[in-house]
Amino acid sequence: MKLDRLGNFQRTHRNGDLRLDHAGQTVRLLGWCRRVRNLGSLVFLDLRDRWGLVQLVANEETADPELLAKLKAVRSEFVLAAEGVVAERESKNPNMATGEVEIRLTGLRILNTAAPLPFPLEDEGVGEDLRLTYRFLDLRRDQLQRNMLLRSEVANLTRNHFRELDFIEIETPILTKSTPEGARDYLVPSRVHPGEFFALPQSPQLFKQLLQVSGFERYIQICRCFRDEDLRADRQPEFTQIDIEMSFVRQEDVQGVIEPLMVKLAQVVGKQVNTPFPRLPFRDAMEWYGSDKPDLRCSIKIQDVTPLFANSGFNLFRTAADSGGQRRVRALFFPGEAAAALSRKQLDELQEVAKQLGAGGLPYAKWGKEGLSSSFKKFLEPADEAALKQGLGIGGEGLAIFAVGTDAQTSRILGDLRLRLARQFGLLDESRFAFLWVVDFPLLEWNEEHRRFVACHHPFTSPHPDDLDLLDSDPGACRAVAYDLVLNGFEVGGGSIRIHDADTQSRLFRTIGIGEAEARSKFGFLLDALSYGAPPHGGLALGLDRLVMLLAGVDNIREVIAFPKTAQARCLMTDAPSPVDERQLRELHLLQEAKQTYRVGAVFFESAEGGNAELRGQALQQISQLTPRQAQGLVTLDPQGQILEAQSISGPTFEF
Ligand code: ASP
Repeated sequence: MKLDRLGNFQRTHRNGDLRLDHAGQTVRLLGWCRRVRNLGSLVFLDLRDRWGLVQLVANEETADPELLAKLKAVRSEFVLAAEGVVAERESKNPNMATGEVEIRLTGLRILNTAAPLPFPLEDEGVGEDLRLTYRFLDLRRDQLQRNMLLRSEVANLTRNHFRELDFIEIETPILTKSTPEGARDYLVPSRVHPGEFFALPQSPQLFKQLLQVSGFERYIQICRCFRDEDLRADRQPEFTQIDIEMSFVRQEDVQGVIEPLMVKLAQVVGKQVNTPFPRLPFRDAMEWYGSDKPDLRCSIKIQDVTPLFANSGFNLFRTAADSGGQRRVRALFFPGEAAAALSRKQLDELQEVAKQLGAGGLPYAKWGKEGLSSSFKKFLEPADEAALKQGLGIGGEGLAIFAVGTDAQTSRILGDLRLRLARQFGLLDESRFAFLWVVDFPLLEWNEEHRRFVACHHPFTSPHPDDLDLLDSDPGACRAVAYDLVLNGFEVGGGSIRIHDADTQSRLFRTIGIGEAEARSKFGFLLDALSYGAPPHGGLALGLDRLVMLLAGVDNIREVIAFPKTAQARCLMTDAPSPVDERQLRELHLLQEAKQTYRVGAVFFESAEGGNAELRGQALQQISQLTPRQAQGLVTLDPQGQILEAQSISGPTFEF
């Protein structure tokens, strides 16, 4: 098909902006044909641009034949320039922003054709692999256009917010040295320095701290971070952080600049949130919600019922009560008819879920229309039942589930089931945005595999000032001045007050098994910087992708990233990662070429002082008479051309 040129065609309006007010005006529009349809003598075409959709129409009986022919050639996703007159529609479409008007076509240019699409853009059920392979088309869909727009708005709002607060945006390197954020590094081989590597930053952590030492006091960067981790729905190998760092601050100061930003971002999607956000110590979060990122849209808390079973005939519970706190019986009670009406089959299915979470089974007690039913009913005397009801604060119908084991085991089981069941029973208010800060994290945790303590957040996090002595006596009990921002059960940010003196930093390195030599070689620059007047400082990083995912109300960060990787860490569109040329590998010293040795013939002359051409000729001849193996040599001739000395040189050989 012969294409028309854009030429000097100028768009007068954005498609989505057209309203009844424009009736009678001649407009020029650009965009993609969403679809064409013929209804009797009328041909309709929906034209889409970034700002919306508008209906174009031509009447077969009255339209210019050339225009009509062109219109009939148009297929979905052709690129068009259209001219026409805005008119009030006879049958209005209330579902469309421009649904009161249509454009009566007077001119049409086909700027480009489009091959039949691999999937219809309106189809919601297209497999993700296909969508990601043709991501450039997938991104045309309304939802993704909206998500990208929201993301851009969040970034702009964030920049403005911090600019108003006098933060300065500074870029930090992408090619850098590995810093320990706890994940595997992506490495970049150095061509110039064989055998040496850069690491892509897991975060700009140390650079932003150094910027505080440099006196910038308030830093912000919306930056890309790279972590070679196993992927999940809310993780990607490269992701974006809103990264901040501040000098002369306490954790409340850092939280104080973040909360108003969250209020503004929530407003963008019409959610009201109140400040200050609740602060919950890590220990309570684990005790009540079985999670360090509790979803407070559900108010149900885990309760410790161990003492109630101290004299129980139910062995499983009583042995836990006898264990001196090693193992506990913890429970969740879901009030209401829906919970009380759970069938035997549903309870069996729930038991399977509990088993996958590491439980031996799922003891339950249910109070419904027919009174109590329980997996351990025969051990529940009326007095026990009454005590249990009182202990759990049960006033009416509902379901209690129990987990027995160590704190870690029971938290895992009940933390998961709490949300699963709350959702199922309608006890979780999906319309809310529930922010909170989880604070007082432990500084260190014991790593069984490496048989040493490792930092829970990162090793630059300040120990709680009240716990400094514990660093030597009981490192595992030492709290950190670290805080996570949680929204609806997702960690959307995390940060800490940092260590700002070299001695404490070295002490912490020692506690986590980094000796002096290793500390110098890996973090010498940091220790140096801390010794040159580092201010007290702290900061935080927000996960932009996760935040936008929650604002957009989608359940996967791939939906808010223009060109994401699959769960197998691949880009299906570009087919990266992919093999590279051997030459590239060789250049990067990642591939050693099999050696080839070339023997190169070289002739050396010792020419007599002021040597003459004739003698040189004779010397050459002599050389060529030597055996081929001796084709290199030193030949010394007397003035008559007689060989005084002929010497074969076994080299040189050159290796490439
Ligand atoms: N760099 C940290 C992280 O990526 C955040 C911070 O401590 O500011 O988790």
